Amino acid sequence: MADFSNYSPGVRKYIEEAKKWLAEQAALREKVKAWHFDTIAVHGLYSAEEAINQNQGAIIEPLFLATSQAYRDADELEAALAYLIPTWCYTRIANPTTYYLEWVLALLESYKTGWDASCLVTASGMSAIMMAVDPFLVKQKPGLEKINFVSSIQLYGGTYQFFSLRRGQERGIEVRWVLNPDDLGEWQAKIDEDTRFLYVEMPSNPQLAFADLKALADLAHSWEIPLIVDATCATPALMRPIAYGADIVIHSLTKSITSGGLAIGGALISRRPITTKIKNDHPLFKDNFAEYVKFLPYRDHGPSPSPFNSLMTLQEIRTLRMKMDLLSLNAQKVAEYLVQHPKIYQVDYPGLPNFRYHPLAKRYMRLVDSDDGSGQEINRFGHLLSFRVAGPPENARKVFNRLKLIFRATDLGRIKSVATIPAISTHQQQGEEARRMADIPPQLIRLCVGAENSADIIADLDQALAAL
Ligand SMILES: *Cc1c(COP(=O)(O)O)cnc(C)c1O
Repeated sequence: MADFSNYSPGVRKYIEEAKKWLAEQAALREKVKAWHFDTIAVHGLYSAEEAINQNQGAIIEPLFLATSQAYRDADELEAALAYLIPTWCYTRIANPTTYYLEWVLALLESYKTGWDASCLVTASGMSAIMMAVDPFLVKQKPGLEKINFVSSIQLYGGTYQFFSLRRGQERGIEVRWVLNPDDLGEWQAKIDEDTRFLYVEMPSNPQLAFADLKALADLAHSWEIPLIVDATCATPALMRPIAYGADIVIHSLTKSITSGGLAIGGALISRRPITTKIKNDHPLFKDNFAEYVKFLPYRDHGPSPSPFNSLMTLQEIRTLRMKMDLLSLNAQKVAEYLVQHPKIYQVDYPGLPNFRYHPLAKRYMRLVDSDDGSGQEINRFGHLLSFRVAGPPENARKVFNRLKLIFRATDLGRIKSVATIPAISTHQQQGEEARRMADIPPQLIRLCVGAENSADIIADLDQALAAL
């Protein structure tokens, strides 16, 4: 128990008062944890009781756009700013609307994993990645120090740039790339005493690469370092890496989680506790990493989301499971159409039996709460796929240009079908050599299948391919 005796009686009064609220919130979380995935997604921590007692009965979480919170007196202000009482104080630090979103995400990501988790919501997926990795890339002793981390090269283009340029080139941190994330030996060979964490994106954008999550987490833990997983393309409806030992999960909330396409956002969800050998005196660092980041580095760096975006995301999460089910079924049909097309020489989709990563995808991607009594949840493989058009790169551009229903955009995770050519968009900046290592040729079209009727999506692809 912390020692509050050096605070004035006035401040201690607020600390006592806060204990009651904290106990109520803890009890509420326990109640919510016992619900099924969809129920948590629909309600989260916002109860009818809270609506009626505090918000004039509003059935949807209120949107707090105010930048800051007022306090009753100096004692309460002091208690709040010393983080002795629950507070939101200033939207760069916390916000009540974002609070509801953070708890829904923490509860869904840790659902049926046997772990407790906490969540920090940020302004974008990229800032969530920065907030997740930077606390491990700190000096641990005086003088020159070698620091490295090991990451799959099969990454979102922005993450690749952040790792290789911003942290590698500009800050002198060594990034050790793993070319085949499903090869555990390759990971193993690249780790040493100076490795701070392992990083994998799964399924990766756009190659749909997978790693053996469980084995990778065990490997990381044998070195006393955390495994960080970007699970944007799966969402917690299809995969919850914490169940297999991951310490930290990243989401670009911008993508499938907010499939309507009206908000940018990111999330860092951490298991309690994480595995790390970093020496950090703060008691939250190991035990409650997301909260540590929120109260300290995030506060100082400032990548906070707009509360309006948090509400947009909250609205979409309520229907996440049913959407991921439908979108996956649609994508499966589209992939099966593409794979038999004579003008296409390769289709990458985790649901295709001949796809390299299919066995791993089968193991890890399952629709939550879909066990019909057989003891197994059913496989659903998400809505991201890619295909390669035969012939020179101009052919891929021709097919791409002829799409009529499907939008051409550097985006994915949408309720509408969206296509892009990664080599000239999302993965343009990393250059040809890095694209070759990551297997992103200019013939590759990335397609994220939406919720239109699959026959209409296929008809659009069919007419576009007829141009060749
Ligand atoms: C888009 C994306 C990101 C970055 O998210 P933003 O919200 O655009 O910052 C990170 N990881 C993956 C897998 C992505 O697709």
